[in-house]
Amino acid sequence: MKITDKIYVAGHTGLVGSAIIRLLKKKGYLQIVTRSSEELDLRDQKLVNEFFETEQPQYVFLAAAKVGGIMANQTYPADFIYDNLAIQNNIIHSAYKHSVEKLLFLGSSCIYPKNAPQPIEEDYLMTGVLEPTNDAYAIAKIAGIKMCQAYHRQYGSRFISVMPTNLYGQGDNYNLQNAHVLPALLRKFHEAKLNKDATVTVWGTGKPRREFLHVDDAAMACYFLMQRYESPEIINVGSGLDYTIKEMATTIKKITNYPGNIIFDEAKPDGTPRKLLNIDKIRALGWKAVIDLEEGLASTYNNFEKNYFYYTNQTESRNGTIVYV
Ligand code: GDP
Repeated sequence: MKITDKIYVAGHTGLVGSAIIRLLKKKGYLQIVTRSSEELDLRDQKLVNEFFETEQPQYVFLAAAKVGGIMANQTYPADFIYDNLAIQNNIIHSAYKHSVEKLLFLGSSCIYPKNAPQPIEEDYLMTGVLEPTNDAYAIAKIAGIKMCQAYHRQYGSRFISVMPTNLYGQGDNYNLQNAHVLPALLRKFHEAKLNKDATVTVWGTGKPRREFLHVDDAAMACYFLMQRYESPEIINVGSGLDYTIKEMATTIKKITNYPGNIIFDEAKPDGTPRKLLNIDKIRALGWKAVIDLEEGLASTYNNFEKNYFYYTNQTESRNGTIVYV
C-alpha cells in the first residue's frame, strides 16, 4: 500500500474505522476516501456500485457493520442479519467488479461455536453450534468470510478476512441499550459516581470470560495484515489474555474511582461462557498487541469523561438505529 494509493475505509465513524483513519493519517496516506451513512447507504447496491465506479479505490478496509452488545443482538436479530449481509455483499462485489487491489473484511470472534475449545483456533470455524444471543450477526459475518474466499477461489481476488476479539477504546458506542460491556460499564460507574448511587448493576453472573483488545492495537493489526497477509484463510487478532466480567467490573470501579458496591443482575444473559482467541498465527507473522488493558481503559475513560456530552448525546440519537462500526 503506497502512500499515494487511494484507500476506502468503510465505516469510518465507527470504533474500528475511526482508529484505522487515525493510523493512516499518522502514517501520511494522502488519498483516504470516506462516506458517511447519510451520504451513502451501504445497503443500497446501486449506490455502492456507483460510488466504486466514481472513486475507484485501490484498497478497501471493510469496517462498516451494524454492531452491538448482547441485548441489541438479542433484540434486533433481523436488523443484524439483513443490514450486515447487504453491506458486505455490496462492498465485496463492487470491489471485485471495480478491480480493487486488496480488501480486508472485518469479522468477529462470535463466528466461532459457543462451546469451542479455548483458546479458539481459526480451524474451529463451523465445527459446532453458535451462541444463540448473536447467531444472526455471526451468520452474516460467516457469509462475508465465505464470500471473500469464494471470490479468491473463482477470480483470484485478494480479499482477506480478519477476526478481532472484543474491542474497546476511543470512539466507542456508550448507549447502554446496545453497547458492549466495557463502554457500558465505564458509563454506568461514571454516572453512579456523579449521582452518588450506592450500587452499580452489572448484567449476568459476572462469571463469563472475555478477551479485550484496544482498538488502536486492532487498527495496527489491520494495517499490518493489509501489507503482509495474502491467504484467504481467516486470521485471529487478540491480546491473548481474558478476564471474568466480575474482574472487569472491579477494574472499572477502580479506574472510575467509584466508591459504592457492585451487584449482579442474573436475569440478564451471560452469553457465551468464554471467548479467548488463539493468536499463534498472527504472532508468528510478527504482530502483537502493545496496549496494556488497564492503561487502555484509563485512557478510554479519560476520553469518555472529556467528551461526555458528545458520547451520550450521539449515542442516544442512535438508539435502536444503525450503528456503523
Ligand atoms: P458478548 O461478548 O457478545 O457477550 O457481548 P457484550 O460485550 O455485550 O457482553 C459481554 C458480557 O458482559 C456478557 O456476559 C454480559 O452479560 C456482560 N455484561 C455485564 N454488564 C453489562 C452491560 O452493562 N452491558 C453489556 N453489553 N454487557 C454486560
